[in-house]
Amino acid sequence: MATAQTQMTNEQLQQNLEFQSRLNAVMKTIHEAESFVKVLPIVEKEMLDMMQAERLTVYQRGRHEREIVSKYKTGKDIKEIRLPLSPASIAGFVAMSQKPVKIDNVYDKKSLASIHAQLRFDQSFDQRSGFRTRSVICVPIKFKETLLGLLQIMNRLDGGTFTDQDLKNAHELAAVIGQKFQYDFQATQGPFDYLLHRKIITKEQLEELKKKGKAENKSVAYLIVTDMKLSPEEVGESLERYYQVPFLKFSPEVEIPRQLFKNLNISYLKSSRWVPVAGNEDKVIILIDDPNDFNRIMEVQQVLNCQSYEFRVGIREDILAFLGEGSTSVQEASDDANISDLIGRLADEDDEVKAEENVSDAIASATESDSTVIQLVNKLIVDASAMNASDIHVEPSKGKTPAVVRFRIDGACREVFKIPASHIRAVIARIKIMSRLDIAERRKPQDGKIAAKYKGKTIELRVATIPTVNGESAVLRVLAAGDALPFEYLNLSERNAEETQRLVQRPHGIFLVVGPTGSGKTTTLHAILGHINEPDRKIWTAEDPVEITQAGLQQVQTQAQIGFTFAAALRAFLRADPDVILIGEMRDQETSHIGVEASLTGHLVFSTLHTNSAPETITRLLGLELDPIDFADALLGVLAQRLMRTLCKDCKEPYTPTEEEFQHIAHAYGNDERLNVLVGDPSKLQLYKAKGCSKCGNTGYKGRTGIHELLVATPEMKKTIARSATIAEIRELAMQQGMTTLAQDGIEKILKGQADFNQLRKVTAEG
Ligand SMILES: [Zn+2]
Repeated sequence: MATAQTQMTNEQLQQNLEFQSRLNAVMKTIHEAESFVKVLPIVEKEMLDMMQAERLTVYQRGRHEREIVSKYKTGKDIKEIRLPLSPASIAGFVAMSQKPVKIDNVYDKKSLASIHAQLRFDQSFDQRSGFRTRSVICVPIKFKETLLGLLQIMNRLDGGTFTDQDLKNAHELAAVIGQKFQYDFQATQGPFDYLLHRKIITKEQLEELKKKGKAENKSVAYLIVTDMKLSPEEVGESLERYYQVPFLKFSPEVEIPRQLFKNLNISYLKSSRWVPVAGNEDKVIILIDDPNDFNRIMEVQQVLNCQSYEFRVGIREDILAFLGEGSTSVQEASDDANISDLIGRLADEDDEVKAEENVSDAIASATESDSTVIQLVNKLIVDASAMNASDIHVEPSKGKTPAVVRFRIDGACREVFKIPASHIRAVIARIKIMSRLDIAERRKPQDGKIAAKYKGKTIELRVATIPTVNGESAVLRVLAAGDALPFEYLNLSERNAEETQRLVQRPHGIFLVVGPTGSGKTTTLHAILGHINEPDRKIWTAEDPVEITQAGLQQVQTQAQIGFTFAAALRAFLRADPDVILIGEMRDQETSHIGVEASLTGHLVFSTLHTNSAPETITRLLGLELDPIDFADALLGVLAQRLMRTLCKDCKEPYTPTEEEFQHIAHAYGNDERLNVLVGDPSKLQLYKAKGCSKCGNTGYKGRTGIHELLVATPEMKKTIARSATIAEIRELAMQQGMTTLAQDGIEKILKGQADFNQLRKVTAEG
């Protein structure tokens, strides 16, 4: 800004000041006016004079059609212009893309193509009126994010072309019009304003529903219908007034045109929240929950490639219903029923049965009706979710030995109960039915998904069945659908927290979080994204699976089977005007190359790698034939991490370590000078050990913490990377520059009483 202003000549400055003072005068006239139609003839001449232009037209966005209609224009030659939202006309294109354009000569096809490949000038207006259009500025008139209409200005009086300053001026004029005349253009300020105005709901109720929607991952529109008992039509009317497009509710009779999106991944559509509801390649009608989200609108047009588009606004849950989202309710697992009762019931039934062979066939055919088995599986899922288990293992045993169910909690497996051998097949069959797998197929591994509903909350599970010598076993991974963790909860050391926050505020570059599977990389990345998730940043993520969701992020689920890989997602994002990109993993050459390129062209890129340490990550990536100089240039930092179990706060016991134990720790820490500062007098050092109580299932441990190793790409580090240095050289320099290793960070957390040495040894090579 400062340089642009200093380069401005005095004359330009003078003109700007003049424009501003004239704009103020126009604004004053407009503000005093009763209606837009009345005031425009009064200010038109002044506006044209300010812009040094021949003509102007103001378009309004039509409410029930995807078209724009001229509301006011200079001259009396043609009464009304109606244009579809498409690149077939300049105004139609600006309305569609919501991006301002400045065109020097509308008859020059090349300059049109430089804006958009399909952009055309609609000559019919010139042909009918006899007016010859030359140069054009067209800018959207918006109120907040809602498109109200357009301001189009034609032909600079001096016969020349409009300047960038003219475009800026037109923008300011459009802003004044949008602010004053939002009601003339029939817009409301928020999607539910109409309901508020009519006093159907109160502001407080709306706030409550917003909170609830966030907590339960439901849309506010849906909650207004379910909790406030309004009809979808009533909510729809309010949405129509705000978004200025017709409302459409879910109806099972509607046959959606599946052939149009047969190449698209359903989970992609679900996470993007739109669905084609009618039409064909020529003209398609799209239902979307936010027709003002023009990034998504542009994306729809990119992936569908139809001739023309119309949009309808819908309730998010209705869109998901069109996409076949049907979730199984596990509510029937009554809250009183507990696992041992259910197992007991199974055992009772078991007594009545003699021959095992006959039983299993009988059960396999009666699975759906066997309510005890159904309740047992439901309860299993509900309990696993309540205990924060990450996985449920259902494991058949040999012969008549009961099958074992284990939950993985905080990274460690724990047996939770046994299922009578006679019923394990029924339980597995039930799990397969819930995850829509082939129950007749018992010889091959299968993968599926369960979306279970419990008390208004959806629990998602990824299911894998694997045949073993004792019969089929099943592993259910609980997808931790949830909100991002606040950054402060990551338990980063002071230096690591400060440096991370500093690095991720950069406008571009690559930041990597690395570690083995289950080391909490996704949690960390989402906490970081949450930290920089501001309305002025466009953030795209491609993940597999999408576990954590955040408002404000555009999250995409990749599906490698149909070719929608991380690399494909990354390329799609680059066409979708991103500021920040999270790419789930940089496992291959293609993804890492595009990632580096994206960061060098002004984007902030986040990703993960399955490497053991921060220094190793660099040599691994260079092994994918990245250019060392480019990569060094792009890199901001690498955060390696592990999750270490923490001691139960309720029962951990203080003790003074022996001299031998202290020496062991000191050796593992490997930096006596720093350790002395941390510990002070070793004889007064107090550590904690695990004991066990009812709160921690008698394990002595509860929860996990991250331990971290942050390598910062300082100028010196960049030079070292650029000359393809060895891991040892990179580590040496990083430690000189203040990096603590994973083991050191772990020991510092042990010294703080958060964990013990046993757990650290399990997650690092130290000890
Ligand atoms: Zn405890």
